[in-house]
Amino acid sequence: MPWSHAVIDCVERRAVTGTPIAEYVPERLVNDRLALVGDAAHVPTPMTGNGFSASFKDALALAECLIDASTIRAYVPALLGYPITLDRLLPGLPKSI
Ligand SMILES: Cc1cc2nc3c(=O)[nH]c(=O)nc-3n(C[C@H](O)[C@H](O)[C@H](O)COP(=O)(O)OP(=O)(O)OC[C@H]3O[C@@H](n4cnc5c(N)ncnc54)[C@H](O)[C@@H]3O)c2cc1C
Repeated sequence: MPWSHAVIDCVERRAVTGTPIAEYVPERLVNDRLALVGDAAHVPTPMTGNGFSASFKDALALAECLIDASTIRAYVPALLGYPITLDRLLPGLPKSI
């Protein structure tokens, strides 16, 4: 293993630092006429380099849900499908309800 000497050396010198990786997930994505997208809906750590594409898929999911809602009143029930559509487009993302 090419990295084993470097890793063992770091451990022996106690030169190892750890950065916890946690992804923020709100309790829910939709409340009445409000929907969370992008980093407000999920904040991937910059180390995964996934925030933009995840945010882009939020917009796709939102558009897909609202495309047939022709009035403001129709938005509320249409938005309920947003987390479900998002789950299809972003299956690996930590889940909100
Ligand atoms: C250091 C770093 C590196 C990253 N590297 C990558 C990467 O390599 N690949 C990748 O895919 N993602 C990466 N990301 C994540 C990516 O940048 C974000 O996930 C993405 O920009 C989220 O888009 P957003 O529209 O939700 O939020 P933002 O891009 O943050 O947009 C929010 C906007 O709202 C504005 N705003 C805030 N408050 C208000 C207010 N009260 N009124 C009006 N406007 C307001 C802000 O000024 C901002 O313009 C990185 C993030 C960081 C911090």
